[in-house]
Amino acid sequence: MFPGEGLVLKPEEMAVYGADSSRRSAMPWAVVRPRTEEQIVELLKWAEAEKMPLVPRLRGTGMSGGAVPAFGGIVVSTLWLNRVIDINADDFCAEVEPGVITSEFQALTQKQKLFYPPDPASLKISTLGGNVSTCAGGMRAVKYGVTRDYVLGVRAVLPGGRICDAGGRAHKNVVGLDLTRLFVGSCGTLGIFTKLILKLLPLPESSATVLAAFPSLHNALEGARGVFRAGILPTAMEFMDHTACQGIGQIKDVPWPRESTQAVLLLKVDGSASALAYELDRLERALSQANPSCLLKGLGPKEEEPLWEIRRLVSPASFQLGPDKLGEDVAVPRGRTVEAVEGFQAIGKENGVHVACYGHLGDGNTHVNIIYDAKDEDQRARAKACKEAVFRLTLSLGGTISGEHGTGITKGPYVSWQLSETERELMAGIKNVFDPSGILNPGKGWV
Ligand SMILES: Cc1cc2nc3c(=O)[nH]c(=O)nc-3n(C[C@H](O)[C@H](O)[C@H](O)COP(=O)(O)OP(=O)(O)OC[C@H]3O[C@@H](n4cnc5c(N)ncnc54)[C@H](O)[C@@H]3O)c2cc1C
Repeated sequence: MFPGEGLVLKPEEMAVYGADSSRRSAMPWAVVRPRTEEQIVELLKWAEAEKMPLVPRLRGTGMSGGAVPAFGGIVVSTLWLNRVIDINADDFCAEVEPGVITSEFQALTQKQKLFYPPDPASLKISTLGGNVSTCAGGMRAVKYGVTRDYVLGVRAVLPGGRICDAGGRAHKNVVGLDLTRLFVGSCGTLGIFTKLILKLLPLPESSATVLAAFPSLHNALEGARGVFRAGILPTAMEFMDHTACQGIGQIKDVPWPRESTQAVLLLKVDGSASALAYELDRLERALSQANPSCLLKGLGPKEEEPLWEIRRLVSPASFQLGPDKLGEDVAVPRGRTVEAVEGFQAIGKENGVHVACYGHLGDGNTHVNIIYDAKDEDQRARAKACKEAVFRLTLSLGGTISGEHGTGITKGPYVSWQLSETERELMAGIKNVFDPSGILNPGKGWV
């Protein structure tokens, strides 16, 4: 079924396929690398007959262990299914295979003045298939939504070798249940994708960015509220708290006053080049009401880039504060963000660990980085207590324990904190319809 390089059995080669960005790992029983859909059909016929667990995988940048064969099985890398089949400016859609790198696809669409908005920070290293399977979000979600909002159709091979073509190229479709949406975010538990149909938009002409620093978290969040109240819908609205800013300050010269800055906002707007100078002005006026201590503007990608470079440093900079971190990605209703962030900071203090909060303020999705030393047993216990307290607070505010990374193996044990028994029973029933023998990515997610 998998001649030559299509089958990997050497432990030293397989080990790479057993880990992802969650820093969890397990040795696969074998690794297969199909080049065609026919091979995947044959594999799923055989696996169903043999009750053989299969773990789909692409670039392994997932943060929750979704591609880690933690419960055994054969890893199925669909990275070689990586053709861009069609980009169509009349239908405003594209057909692609799962292994296409997200940023490479975006570059191709841009050549035709088309736009694929989902922008996980990993877009240069992750794939469209992985993004659909995890329903990846990104900074532009506040204006454009997440991956789910751009998937018109999914072609997937199911256990036993059946092919399901859900959805299609039409932008509206209300015939039957929405199987396409079921596949999005299913983390390889329902079927193995072989083709995706993605929705495109016209490419905005240009963009502009504002960075503003504030003497308190309240001021920053007041500034953010002021932007929405002024009727501005930013493309991105990111924030970084005091601890996150401190971490960045340790590896880079920062434009804000180091001692007095408690929070930084970064906002992007996009649209026609002629309207953007006016939009920047409106943004500045709205933010100024909240008394920023520093405000920098960038018009067009060249001026914006240094401002966004600072934001990209926030994750690596957190390691300045400690060697290990638990990176949570909770989300709360947008109006509860202040309570959430202040609560997370207080939880960090109570447990004696650094907690850096940053992320997608515009949609209430906060990255809570709990920084600790995993070699120290006491710190490990305190970090875990901190993570659980963060989840409890999030849920008490009406939020979710994962806004974008999915539950995988890292949050699996906490799913029942959020989902009711009825929800879990329904989900288990759906899983059973697609995968009655439970061979697809066992032990992951939500049941
Ligand atoms: C630096 C960094 C930044 C990140 N930023 C973001 C961010 O901003 N937003 C965000 O949402 N995530 C982010 N992530 C997480 C990660 O990049 C996303 O989850 C991404 O979508 C995973 O893509 P991948 O190609 O690496 O897939 P993988 O990690 O290989 O797999 C992800 C899931 O897809 C399943 N899968 C793989 N192939 C298939 C297939 N053919 N059919 C069905 N299921 C399949 C796997 O079983 C697994 O459950 C970030 C990660 C890193 C390392």
